[in-house]
Amino acid sequence: MPLLALAEGATPPAAGTPAWVQIVALAVILAAALAVALAWRAGRRPRRRKAAAGGATVVCPQCSHSFPVESASCPMCGWIKPPPPAHLEFIFGPLEGQTVNLLADVTTLGSAAGNSVVLPDPGVSRKHVGIRRDPSGYEMADLGSTNGVYVNGQRLAKRLLVPGDIIRIGSSEMVFHLEKVG
Ligand SMILES: [Zn+2]
Repeated sequence: MPLLALAEGATPPAAGTPAWVQIVALAVILAAALAVALAWRAGRRPRRRKAAAGGATVVCPQCSHSFPVESASCPMCGWIKPPPPAHLEFIFGPLEGQTVNLLADVTTLGSAAGNSVVLPDPGVSRKHVGIRRDPSGYEMADLGSTNGVYVNGQRLAKRLLVPGDIIRIGSSEMVFHLEKVG
């Protein structure tokens, strides 16, 4: 009889969740949270180590293959990497102090309306110079101007621009930079 009473006393009422079930559930949730946190850290660490080792990579938006940043195109699918953003900084002339991002495939500068950049400068032709953006970089071309295009003091018909190049058309001067502004 006392044994039966003990067994009955040890059996909790049918209603409600036994305390040990709640403890086990809590432990499972904590273990899962810990596992997620560890997996997140493990997933992040190698990437950081790789970047520190100098092997910076680009993920191809077309096939998700990662390849070195130095490559101009994806070795898996041939996707061509666009050139880095660039801008012109006007250091002399009517647009002095302004910057223009070179986001379009072709940016044209001239005195006439309809150019990407309108330069109200008497020495600038209606369509003076164009800057073409392609995988190899940014190439400027004289569009048949009267007074020519000078890059670093030299009159040139075409040039693949390098950062720091100073372009002069008419009385306007601008510096080519390889990053986006704004
Ligand atoms: Zn690819």
